[in-house]
Amino acid sequence: MRLNSIKAKSLIYLLSFIFILISLITFLSLHKLKDLLYYSVDQTLKNEADIIIGLMKQDKKDIELEITEINSGFYMIPKSGHYYKIQINSNNSGFKVHDSDEIFNKVVSKSLGDENFNFKILSIEKNIPEKDEIFFLSVGFNNEPLRVLKKNINFMGNDIELYISEPIADTLRIIKEFNFFIIILSLVSLGVSIIIITFLINSFLKPLKSFSKELSNISHKNLNQTIKDSSYPSELKEMVYSFNNMMKRINNAFETEKRILSEASHKLKTPIAVIKSYCDVTLKKDREKHEYIETLNSVKNVTNKVISLISGILTLSKLESESIKYNSFERVSIKECLENTVSLTKYLAYQKNINIEFISNVEVYVLADKDKLIEAFVNIVENAIKYNKQNGFIKISTLTKDDKVYISIKDSGIGIDKENQDKVFNRFYRVDSFIEGSGLGLNISKTIIDNHNGIITFNSKVNEGTEFIITLPILF
Ligand code: ADP
Repeated sequence: MRLNSIKAKSLIYLLSFIFILISLITFLSLHKLKDLLYYSVDQTLKNEADIIIGLMKQDKKDIELEITEINSGFYMIPKSGHYYKIQINSNNSGFKVHDSDEIFNKVVSKSLGDENFNFKILSIEKNIPEKDEIFFLSVGFNNEPLRVLKKNINFMGNDIELYISEPIADTLRIIKEFNFFIIILSLVSLGVSIIIITFLINSFLKPLKSFSKELSNISHKNLNQTIKDSSYPSELKEMVYSFNNMMKRINNAFETEKRILSEASHKLKTPIAVIKSYCDVTLKKDREKHEYIETLNSVKNVTNKVISLISGILTLSKLESESIKYNSFERVSIKECLENTVSLTKYLAYQKNINIEFISNVEVYVLADKDKLIEAFVNIVENAIKYNKQNGFIKISTLTKDDKVYISIKDSGIGIDKENQDKVFNRFYRVDSFIEGSGLGLNISKTIIDNHNGIITFNSKVNEGTEFIITLPILF
């Protein structure tokens, strides 16, 4: 399992989350348990303190302590952890213990023996200044853990320090056991989580794995293969759908490239064979200078044809494979495009003494790639010149109806006979082999107009002329 895989990442994230959650729960429950246990110990200490304070009485200038009342039970057992110590911090009075005339400044429980024991503060657990109470942890004679309440009281003007302790070995043992139990529980939960999460991730990733397996079976030989989305969960269905669409587009582009390549190589074969035969014939024997010039001129003419063919093929393959994105679509003026078209073609028209008349009364806009649209118009106007008579005319006009603009390019040329009319948009299709051309111009124009959601049609009569009509949606 690689670290940057979805499985590893999900496992790391989820386990980290579970680990943090378990640690938090462990910490909080342990804290709560400690609080509860110590609360009950502290309550006992406070009760004991209240009882002892309640047993103090005034006896002239001394304090009488009903010691027999408290010297019973735990306080009798030596080194039991249940201790008390009461100490007067002034010289004016002393303690008079019941039935005895002796005066003490310190009274200790029987369980402390006669030891002059001082409670060592290990850590202060609770400090309540308003009641003058401090709860702290300490250790007894046998190093037994203790919780001690130290309370300062004022009785008959005497500052009295009262210490009461309770053993907390059992409390600590409960906390330790609970700690151990909760750590084991956390480890078990973590282990179970790993198993469940791994199982879930594997089952989530299963469709992706089978998708990737299906993808690995696709090669250039079966690009038309689609992946059935029925076996995938709904979240992946959309991806499978997009993938199938992408494959359809790739397959189309691939097929187009293949078709164009085979048609192009077929079309290029003839002129190249012509060039070769010119060269073979010329090289057969020694020739005069003018013969070489003649051959080179012929080769040049055929080469020009090859060049225009290749450039047409390139344009087409780019257009059809959608490698040219029409992302430069913008608000384009039809009048401006046609004016550009006229100025790009007027030199060609001038050579045949053809007049290009451009009538445009309407200012209308379309959403278009301006350069491509001009290219489509130029191809049609160039044909109108190429297939026109000497001194002929070309009329370009626009008309709008509803939400469409109709662009008419009409010529006084040779026209297209009925039987060729439905083929002229085909790639490499040419009617007249005497006039130079590649048979790609109309196909390129049609592809461009199609990509602009437009329509291109024509009416033609032999020897009268042809009118191409391009319809495009208006951009308001
Ligand atoms: P090319 O002009 O390079 O041959 P096109 O695709 O532009 O290729 O045109 C295809 C064929 O349609 C041309 O060979 C020509 O016979 C015919 N054609 C196109 N435009 C006209 C036109 N305005 N008048 C007569 N024939 C045309």
